[in-house]
Amino acid sequence: IPKMAKSKFEYVREFESEETLLPNCWIVVRIDGKAFHKFSAKHNFAKPNDLRAISLMNKAATCVMQDYKDIVMAYGQSDEYSFVLRKSCTLHNRRKSKIMTYISSLFTSSYVYHWHSYFKDQKLKYPPSFDGRIVLYPTDQNLKDYLSWRQADCHINNLYNTTFWNLVLTGGLTPAEAEKRLCGTLSSDKNEILFSEFGINYNNELEVYKKGTILLRKRLKRPNSDKHKIVILPLHIDLIKEEFWEENSELLQM
Ligand code: ATP
Ligand code: ATP
Ligand code: MG
Ligand code: MG
Ligand code: MG
Ligand code: MG
Repeated sequence: IPKMAKSKFEYVREFESEETLLPNCWIVVRIDGKAFHKFSAKHNFAKPNDLRAISLMNKAATCVMQDYKDIVMAYGQSDEYSFVLRKSCTLHNRRKSKIMTYISSLFTSSYVYHWHSYFKDQKLKYPPSFDGRIVLYPTDQNLKDYLSWRQADCHINNLYNTTFWNLVLTGGLTPAEAEKRLCGTLSSDKNEILFSEFGINYNNELEVYKKGTILLRKRLKRPNSDKHKIVILPLHIDLIKEEFWEENSELLQM
């Protein structure tokens, strides 16, 4: 094989730098929609929660998990998804930008690719984009706390948004009035507004709204056979309680 001809321009490659992710750490890739406040309005998302949009996010995340077997679980809410890659993952030699950009672009292209399966009567008006970031967590407890942080965020935002949109859509307040009304209120106050003014018991809201979506790989037995298949299962359950980690103890072993 002849030596590859190098042009005099080749030296510019020396300017490239590559960050390698620290070994033995959990790798979390979080993607988040760019300006989805606007995107959701332009595409007539139901407020506070559009189930089509949530299902599409879950579909796009499932596509990412199908392609990247190093992802042990994912957690999504609103316009964001977090993908957890196993500690011993050697994907792309743990090159940070490769992992981050492949995952955010595959998520984005899958979101667009499957748009019309979920939004049957709503045209996609412009191409959405998602940012990506990578955070390393050295301990299992750090990883659990990270996911608990995202799920607590989901709950806090959902309680706020549910109350806000009831005040606006049913209560007839302007968005500014609703915001003022909710300023400084505690969770218990919002629960009380929902119950006494709108007859809504927040506990009865859909779990997918309150908890977000956890994607796990589960081994399912095929009927009438010894064979198993791996499926990606969406769950809308609490992961803050230790119980979740006891019931899915294989997660932290991966
Ligand atoms: P940034 O570019 O900084 O992320 P953003 O407008 O995307 O800005 P976020 O904090 O990410 O801000 O908020 C996402 C927004 O997307 C929320 O305000 C919410 O209104 C909207 N949104 C996301 N998912 C849904 C959904 N399933 N139903 C209704 N609205 C949604
Ligand atoms: P990697 O994932 O490492 O980038 P790759 O297969 O994408 O692997 P590249 O060095 O990026 O490798 O090369 C891109 C390849 O895509 C080329 O080998 C070429 O065959 C193909 N390709 C790209 N654009 C065109 C095009 N317009 N017409 C035909 N082939 C193309
Ligand atoms: Mg933001
Ligand atoms: Mg966003
Ligand atoms: Mg967001
Ligand atoms: Mg290429």
